[in-house]
Amino acid sequence: MIFNARDRITRGLLSLARSPLPFHLYYRRHFPLPAVLLIENTNACNAHCVMCPREKLTRKPGIMAFELFEKIIREVSEVKRKPVVHLHGFGEPLLDESLPDRIRLAKDFGINHTYLVTNASLLFPETAKKIIDAGLDEMKISFYGTDDDSYCRTMEGLDFKVALNNIIEFVKIRKEMKKKTPKLILQYLPQETNGAAIKDFKILGRAVLDKKVGDRLNVSALDNFGDGRAYNPVKGNIASVCFYPWSAMSVLWDGRAVTCCVDYNGVQEVGNLNSQTVAEIWNGPVMTGIRKNFGRLDYSGFPVCQCCDWVHRR
Ligand code: SF4
Repeated sequence: MIFNARDRITRGLLSLARSPLPFHLYYRRHFPLPAVLLIENTNACNAHCVMCPREKLTRKPGIMAFELFEKIIREVSEVKRKPVVHLHGFGEPLLDESLPDRIRLAKDFGINHTYLVTNASLLFPETAKKIIDAGLDEMKISFYGTDDDSYCRTMEGLDFKVALNNIIEFVKIRKEMKKKTPKLILQYLPQETNGAAIKDFKILGRAVLDKKVGDRLNVSALDNFGDGRAYNPVKGNIASVCFYPWSAMSVLWDGRAVTCCVDYNGVQEVGNLNSQTVAEIWNGPVMTGIRKNFGRLDYSGFPVCQCCDWVHRR
């Protein structure tokens, strides 16, 4: 399963598992390792999308040391049930020139499913070839406009034609290389700045993607990203159990592990991969305490979670 809260299917599954009572037994157990490991290769970005709270980012920009990345992948590849590995975080992953090498390493170590999200602005043919050749399994492309104007008002700093052309070329190159992966997901977030032109987006997307290999469109909804934005109301009592601590772990580029990718400033640290293993953190006292508290809707001491719109709705 690709754990991405912006996917409709994942949102549906999340809503099923949110009630603490029927899932009480489930919440007493967890897998020996996270099912999904989100590894931030960089937190730098070349865009200023209106729905992204980038202006509130206080962490310094950086790129994860390759040795640290290798250490993490080496460890999680030793188990039979390997996690899905996300190769991005709060940044544009293609700013990291070693990204194709990271993908190749993960595949060489037997990671079954690798995934990343990009804005495609740097997905030029040379990079496209390297990424396809390295064996990436799935790539989501954030594409939040349907013409120059709506795109640039939403994804400030990027160029509509450049990104669109990169996607068209990518599909062509993948075909020429006789590959079916990475499968593409073209994502749209309807909002004020892009006129919520879902119909136009679908027409544009269908013309660009190759449905035969499994490419698809995804129209999602805006979320607050913790305290980053205020699209959805956050009031009243917390109503839902967040099942991140039972299923996923997020690692920042500097090696610190945090509760989830919403914690873009890394204030809810649960461990540090520079000195610990994934298993030590995942099965250690901090995560155990979090599971115990989250399972009874106690998010005290977790300011990002308290602002999170996901747990304020059922
Ligand atoms: S911020 Fe907290 S409650 Fe929200 S998704 Fe992340 S871990 Fe779950």
